[in-house]
Amino acid sequence: AASPKFFVGGNWKCNGTKDSISKLITELNSAKLEPDVDVVVAPPFLYIDQVKSSISDRIEISAQNSWVGKGGAFTGEISVEQLKDVGVKWVILGHSERRHIIGEKDEFIGKKAAYALSEGLGVIACIGELLQEREAGKTFDVIFQQLKAYADAVPSWDNVVIAYEPVWAIGTGKVASPQQAQEVHVAVRDWLTKNVSAEVASKTRIIYGGSVNGGNSAELAKEVDIDGFLVGGASLKGPEFATIVNSVT
Ligand code: PEP
Repeated sequence: AASPKFFVGGNWKCNGTKDSISKLITELNSAKLEPDVDVVVAPPFLYIDQVKSSISDRIEISAQNSWVGKGGAFTGEISVEQLKDVGVKWVILGHSERRHIIGEKDEFIGKKAAYALSEGLGVIACIGELLQEREAGKTFDVIFQQLKAYADAVPSWDNVVIAYEPVWAIGTGKVASPQQAQEVHVAVRDWLTKNVSAEVASKTRIIYGGSVNGGNSAELAKEVDIDGFLVGGASLKGPEFATIVNSVT
């Protein structure tokens, strides 16, 4: 990583109990975190209030999803307004588990991003190819199409962090090599230059996610276009998450 400011997010997914989260917060609050890194955690909705009331102000809170518009008669959904009400600053959108398990489509994800941004939340906008798409040589087609869906919808990229998460690397222990990740990050930056602007391309954080852990983050962070990480499994262990935060170069 060179500039912009390093960003590390912890995606807790559908994990945790009041007790395990309390222990994790204790670990995070006592960890030494490099000052020049944005650090964000994304607990399950149910526990956001618990996290907000006990975690250090040093760490911001993200949701793992949000409703596409203003709240109302949408059973089971959580609105952006409600997230803001409980102190959430970010939302993860387009995560591969929501795309491929729940079935969310590019256009719907783009609309969610636009709405969240319009209400002042930051968006962690995920993109990434499936293994069969990579093997078929379609990685760039897929990620450019996902990027276009965001670009077509969002009014500004000021509060967007792009998370490149190859689906074959998520939760599998098969991390992308630094070169594989760097190659895609460069392609994302080029795409932004050509389709949005050179300024957005240079300012937007492009973070990598997929089996990042305390043992591989330092090598990945050396790549010029890797501006941070989105971390799943390893974000459930406070000391290991701190190691990843502190891999900023
Ligand atoms: C994720 O879900 O965003 C992720 C990167 O998961 P993991 O680190 O467990 O592969």
